[in-house]
Amino acid sequence: MSLILVLNCGSSSLKFALLEPSNQSTVLSGLAEKLFEDEPRLIVTDGEGKQAGPLPGQGHAVAMRGILEALRSRGLLEQVSSVGHRVVHGGERFRQATRITPEVVAQIEACVPLAPLHNPANLEGIRGAMEAFPGLPHVAVFDTAFHQTMPPHAYRYALPEVLYREHGVRRYGFHGTSHQYVTRRAAELLGIPLEHSAFVSAHLGNGCSITAVKGGRSVDTSMGLTPLEGLVMGTRSGDVDPGIHAFLAENLGLSLREVTEVLNKGSGLLGLSGLSNDMRELERAAAEGHAGARLALEVFCYRLAKYVAAMCVPLGRLDALIFTGGIGENSSLVREKVLGQLGILGFRLEPEQNARTVRGQAGPITAEGSPLALVVPTNEELMIAWETRAVLA
Ligand code: ADP
Repeated sequence: MSLILVLNCGSSSLKFALLEPSNQSTVLSGLAEKLFEDEPRLIVTDGEGKQAGPLPGQGHAVAMRGILEALRSRGLLEQVSSVGHRVVHGGERFRQATRITPEVVAQIEACVPLAPLHNPANLEGIRGAMEAFPGLPHVAVFDTAFHQTMPPHAYRYALPEVLYREHGVRRYGFHGTSHQYVTRRAAELLGIPLEHSAFVSAHLGNGCSITAVKGGRSVDTSMGLTPLEGLVMGTRSGDVDPGIHAFLAENLGLSLREVTEVLNKGSGLLGLSGLSNDMRELERAAAEGHAGARLALEVFCYRLAKYVAAMCVPLGRLDALIFTGGIGENSSLVREKVLGQLGILGFRLEPEQNARTVRGQAGPITAEGSPLALVVPTNEELMIAWETRAVLA
């Protein structure tokens, strides 16, 4: 067997999965968490179930050695052929997945100003893994790469040219692996060649973004320079008037750091509802009459419906609107509310199909004669494994 270890390294946690890409199976997966707290721990899920244990110290390198041990003790270590790393920001330098060399590490470092919260953690993961698995090829798979096919009129902000040219201020887009995976899968499910397909893909998880994908290539997306732009998210505001920064600074005395914190961590579903960033909880509270939860749901769905319509502009034709991510795959309520506002495009829901298509089910949720809306469960780890294999082939 030739297994690929997929790593997704955050600032305080490290998610991993061991995949057999040719038959699309996950042999083992897990999470090293609380990496800088008193009791860091490793949770591993395999065929036998879930096991949790303490890690012998703090930090990413210790976590990586813990993962190595977990593989060794299960007799899997020898079967690992390569390592695929999720990297959030590849700037304009990385248009596709790339084998990691010292030069590539330096170029990922050069993208840190574009993703100061994410790229440093991704780099920690890369360094730790290269130390733990020195004999294996490592590949970086970028969240932004899939969107590098956007044309300038979609990625440029109406800002002075020098900000783009000298400082890289433009729209990059994120969730690329997910949008790429679900659009490929949708083309397969519908039996149409990817090169001739036209999809709008809505990835709705804790972070949310929507992408227009024409012929298998991203032509527009809702996230921008950072993952803050666009849709309403769990704790992120999505689109706001850029004048809000100055307003908050001048009238409330907030620093730039505090404004960034409010927009990233205290806004979105959480900010609107005053209750939670979790869609399940908001659905329950809204059903019980909680006004904040109801408003949060309405704003979330209305913003999303507006964006679906907008993303049809560059496509010309629509083969399907795709819902994915924790909310997209499970919330029939959100899907119903969104399609209910898209009568202008002819969308009509098929309620039973919509209610049934949850928990990992894929399939259509629209009525006969309506444009198609599909639920397609995402699998970012598998996409990263495929990309890793392709780069090394
Ligand atoms: P991440 O972006 O962190 O990977 P997920 O894709 O798992 O997150 O999505 C998390 C979101 O999905 C949360 O808002 C969660 O409430 C929502 N979600 C998961 N299951 C359901 C469900 N059955 N109904 C509604 N929302 C759900």
